Amino acid sequence: MSREKIVEAVGLTRAFPMADGEFVALRDVSFAIEPGEFVSIMGASGSGKSTLLNLLGCLDRPTSGHLRLRGTDTRELDDAHLSRVRNSTIGFIFQSFNLIAPATVLTNVTLPLVYARTPRKDRNSRGMALLRAVGLEAKAASRPNQLSGGQCQRVAIARALVNRPALLLADEPTGNLDSRTGMEILRLMRAIHEHGVTIVMVTHDLKLAHFTQRILTIHDGELDADERITPEPLPQGEISLADLYPIRHDAAPGTEVTP
Ligand code: ADP
Ligand code: MG
Repeated sequence: MSREKIVEAVGLTRAFPMADGEFVALRDVSFAIEPGEFVSIMGASGSGKSTLLNLLGCLDRPTSGHLRLRGTDTRELDDAHLSRVRNSTIGFIFQSFNLIAPATVLTNVTLPLVYARTPRKDRNSRGMALLRAVGLEAKAASRPNQLSGGQCQRVAIARALVNRPALLLADEPTGNLDSRTGMEILRLMRAIHEHGVTIVMVTHDLKLAHFTQRILTIHDGELDADERITPEPLPQGEISLADLYPIRHDAAPGTEVTP
């Protein structure tokens, strides 16, 4: 049963130790996500959205409760195995892009392949294909500080996709962008979703959540609502980024996580 879900959160709780006791940032949160969903996690600033996303992305471990990724109970994995699973299954994007400033755009995109020990020739061709997909092939040799915010986020998206993840986690991906550029990023995420990648996007903006298929609402660390919706159509852009995205996610059977 659980094999069909890509994510299963079971009673996730995260408490942070404080000088005067502990602060419970997330309390008993349970839900499941099917492959192919585009989900948003909505909530006010400080409600626990990033705490939850970091748990889903195995960047952090819960105080209690547990997480299953494609049926695998992540409690059963040691840190080394967990980071392998994370690198092969999950791509991340962040509000602040988190690019490496002194490195070129192409090096930023291909860095996850270095960790995956992919040969340099394959790294560069895969990196260039991803840069083409996000419309930034011409910027491969540039440095992040030569790019606009929207371009930086597209580089970060290319980097997040370079290992062909099944799951893309995005923490306020348009939070540092003007609304028009933010819409371009959302259009790109929708194109990625249409190519078979499951997406979970954190936002504090209900308008943005309405462009996804399902809204999980967090309030003071608790799951308040879980609502499936018909996504709003995106305002038309000049080009369909879906046409630019050539790399299909390999969702073939047998790619399941095994401990
Ligand atoms: P959101 O992403 O919804 O803005 P966060 O998940 O970042 O919220 O934080 C939720 C709450 O947990 C906040 O009150 C924050 O101050 C607290 N918090 C987050 N990380 C830590 C930490 N490492 N130590 C202590 N408190 C934390
Ligand atoms: Mg946050």
